[in-house]
Amino acid sequence: MATIISGKELSLQIRGEIAEKAKQFEEQNGRLPGLAVIIVGENPASKVYVRNKHRACGECGMYSEVIELPEQTPEEELLAVIDELNGRSEIDGILVQLPLPRHIKESVVINRISPEKDVDVFHPVNVGRLTTGNYTLAPCTPAGVVEMLVRSGVEIKGKKCVVVGRSNIVGKPLALLLLEKNGTVTVCHSRTADLKAECLEADILVAAIGKPKFITADMVKPGAVVVDVGINRNEEGKLCGDVDYENVEPLCSYITPVPGGVGPMTITMLMKNTLLAAEERAKG
Ligand code: NDP
Repeated sequence: MATIISGKELSLQIRGEIAEKAKQFEEQNGRLPGLAVIIVGENPASKVYVRNKHRACGECGMYSEVIELPEQTPEEELLAVIDELNGRSEIDGILVQLPLPRHIKESVVINRISPEKDVDVFHPVNVGRLTTGNYTLAPCTPAGVVEMLVRSGVEIKGKKCVVVGRSNIVGKPLALLLLEKNGTVTVCHSRTADLKAECLEADILVAAIGKPKFITADMVKPGAVVVDVGINRNEEGKLCGDVDYENVEPLCSYITPVPGGVGPMTITMLMKNTLLAAEERAKG
């Protein structure tokens, strides 16, 4: 039987720690750390994510602002909103909820956010900082994965880590963070020649693919640590990850569930980044 790493429980603990630090920040600076979230359009999933982020700010004792813009908002108008937030001293973090409507270019929008306030850590300057190991802000989902491992006492150093998925949001930055923790990292993707063989080598296996039950029991080395980043809907419309949890769980030493695993940790790391951004800005 595996130890289940509950992102929900860990998040509660970490959000408490962040709330403490937010209070200290307020005492020293006369204001709360502040996050602004911009949402363009009516995507129902995005709306849920934004609501959760707003709620998490409340839990962490931080100021939060949600800016809702209509679907047809011209790119220039969105950029003007970002410019205004870049200039506001009480806003430490700016997040533009993705995906954006088709007529708006994601990269242009991301590049417009001041790197100091880029709490999603998508700006090329921050990606460069991460790559060189000279950074304060780490991208939320990968940071959440590493935090879960570290707080559960899973040693990364010297371990063979296999990350399935190479997106800019999850797979690639997670590979960098695991490398920094001295893991030996392999990144797999849809053109990997023998995925099963690669996965079977893993002491720590991370699934970030976006396909339900993709990682099956025959791909997992007994005793491995399995982290499931995926968020999918199964045939019954229920939330599930990328791992065939029922059959993999009995095999491994640690596993993260979906829901209640990496998802809550991602938002918690966003809160942490907002606090860190506030502290960095306060230093001047
Ligand atoms: P992407 O679609 O951007 O990337 C998926 C990756 O999986 C790609 O690198 C792709 O390879 C790889 N892949 C697809 N099919 C296969 C295959 N048959 N064999 C091997 N590799 C394959 O997704 P994201 O990284 O954005 O997200 C991954 C999952 O994580 C999704 O379910 C998403 O919803 C979830 N997610 C969860 C978050 C959380 O907070 N828990 C946050 C962000 C994402 P290739 O590059 O070759 O196409």
